Amino acid sequence: MAIQWFPGHMHLTQKAIAERVKDIDVVIELLDARLPGSSANPMLADLTGHKPGLKVLNKQDLADPERTALWLAHYNDRPATRAIGLDASQTTPARRLIDACHELAPSRGGMAKPMRVLICGIPNVGKSTLINTLIGGRKAKTGDEAGITKLEQRITLADDFYLWDTPGMLWPRIIVAKSGYNLAASGAIGRNAFDEEEVALELLDALRQHYAALVQARFSLDAVDGLTDERLLEAIGRKRGALLGQGRVNLQKAAEIVMNEFRSGKLGRITLETPQEFAAWVAAGELLEAERRAKKEARAQKKHPRPDRGAPPAAPSGAD
Ligand code: GDP
Repeated sequence: MAIQWFPGHMHLTQKAIAERVKDIDVVIELLDARLPGSSANPMLADLTGHKPGLKVLNKQDLADPERTALWLAHYNDRPATRAIGLDASQTTPARRLIDACHELAPSRGGMAKPMRVLICGIPNVGKSTLINTLIGGRKAKTGDEAGITKLEQRITLADDFYLWDTPGMLWPRIIVAKSGYNLAASGAIGRNAFDEEEVALELLDALRQHYAALVQARFSLDAVDGLTDERLLEAIGRKRGALLGQGRVNLQKAAEIVMNEFRSGKLGRITLETPQEFAAWVAAGELLEAERRAKKEARAQKKHPRPDRGAPPAAPSGAD
């Protein structure tokens, strides 16, 4: 079962971003460095497409450095786009953000033309943590100025540099099943929206392809190769004493262990997708979506046949 997750109040965020973006010079999108493609919100690109963009690969301390380098190069190749890696261990990230924004919008700066930046990201990507670090002891400005809604906050990073925090939440839009699983594994999706055992099995499947040695070492397994995902989960549960009695493994508990250890970085520095893999998933997802739409259209056409509007009208007889 693929994971679907699109809570209702998204349209409020959408509206607020569309309003704010008119007066913005650079859009910062925080991405989870362990799943940059899946943690991006395609809707944000639709809303802010023409603005220069800074992609911040956050939580890079948890991600595979080699793959982070691939993603940074991928984004830095795009027009009007810069990318940097960041994590909460950096106590003064403001300088890097400011410099990257000035590169993207060199005409902005100084009191007459202050840099105006919008920061967005899906839940759990580390936005509050970063903003708190940026604010330091200062208080963010909220709600007491025309155009600043109660939910929006403006942070002054320098006298001529304003950072706007998006109000509400920018939820991920899950376009491919693999993204859903990766988002669930990372902790970006509410617990009730997915089956933990299913997500853990998908996670193990991804891990065995690139990080089998980490899994084997972390759970002291004799081997990972040759085990199905189900057997692997069972072996992990057994090793960790997640048992139900009569020798049966508590698979739910084993799934929680696998996910928690991935999320906390105990399994090691792991990135679940490369730019190339992600592009292939999206292409396959789009193909499926097109097929699904065509089938739906064909069913509707069968139920309520419509005249073929594609054919040109017949010329009236006798017309010259
Ligand atoms: P928000 O929902 O985007 O505002 O995310 P939070 O700032 O609340 O962070 C979500 C979780 O990720 C918290 O448990 C943070 O401690 C953790 N977190 C945030 N930034 C980092 C980071 O750079 N590295 C690691 N390892 N954890 C982080």
